[in-house]
Amino acid sequence: MIPAQFDYTRASSLDEAISLLSNGDGGAKLLAGGHSLIPLMKLRLSEPESLIDIGRIPELRGIREREGKIGIGAGTTHHEVETSDLLREKAPVVADCAGEIGDPQVRNRGTVGGSLAHADPAADYPAVMLAIDAEVHLKGPNGWRSVKASDFFQDMFTVDMAEDEVIVSVQFDPIQAASYAKLKQRASHYAIVGVAAALGVENGLIQWARVGVTGATGYAVRLPEVEEQLTGQQPEQAAIDAAAGVAGNSLEDVNSDLHASEEYRRAMVKVFTRRALEGAVARL
Ligand SMILES: Cc1cc2nc3c(=O)[nH]c(=O)nc-3n(C[C@H](O)[C@H](O)[C@H](O)COP(=O)(O)OP(=O)(O)OC[C@H]3O[C@@H](n4cnc5c(N)ncnc54)[C@H](O)[C@@H]3O)c2cc1C
Repeated sequence: MIPAQFDYTRASSLDEAISLLSNGDGGAKLLAGGHSLIPLMKLRLSEPESLIDIGRIPELRGIREREGKIGIGAGTTHHEVETSDLLREKAPVVADCAGEIGDPQVRNRGTVGGSLAHADPAADYPAVMLAIDAEVHLKGPNGWRSVKASDFFQDMFTVDMAEDEVIVSVQFDPIQAASYAKLKQRASHYAIVGVAAALGVENGLIQWARVGVTGATGYAVRLPEVEEQLTGQQPEQAAIDAAAGVAGNSLEDVNSDLHASEEYRRAMVKVFTRRALEGAVARL
């Protein structure tokens, strides 16, 4: 399929991208890796009047640690995240997650910002961003804003982002005891169910747990029943099994499609919650 006609401009700075976006009167769209937007345009499900290419803006690239926080630029590719020494050392769950996305072509082109903005119900990063309590940093014509991941994902393909805002980066604290486990769709590798778990353990007890699930519902959400079940417990197999047993009880409107029925997805939420928790405990 051939997309509808569109104008193309390459922005060379963040502010130029914001200005082009604001002047586009809602008809302009940012183009990052193009691995979600271009397929939509080819199917004519998206017909932007103009594309603003943000693929070569230095301010949007890179992974760094500053004042104890880790920041990933929105234009950083999945491959760069997967292979980052800093992430492997300070937040290995994020690098693991990137390595699970699609195939090498997708990982070489697709970006963190594009994935978060697109908010596909089966995308991998959203579950991890919820578990590590990440903040999404945005800039628009009125300045900067940051939104917690738990507020950012609002519905299927819907996030807390205005039409003239750009995701600049995502930030989070270093974390070791976190893990991501997913049942992937064989062809695309999108998550049929993906669960990310992060644990805070002190004095031998779980002080807090954050668990995010993707693929199961219209958008990624936390599993409060699992988090409550784990808090105050010893990080041992019995606690993991009990928590996995209640996983998904809070989920409403579970997806059912050609890849998996609701019943199967609900069963897999329990299985992959257990695997994610076992992975997080193994990293304590
Ligand atoms: C075959 C295939 C398999 C895939 N498998 C997986 C998978 O297993 N797991 C997974 O999670 N994903 C998967 N993906 C999706 C992939 O990760 C995409 O790269 C990603 O969803 C979008 O990133 P992008 O940089 O390509 O964004 P684009 O396609 O360029 O843009 C997507 C949307 O985000 C907007 N946007 C882009 N950057 C920004 C920004 N900085 N600020 C604000 N808005 C922005 C665009 O305007 C557009 O609306 C797959 C894609 C393909 C084609």
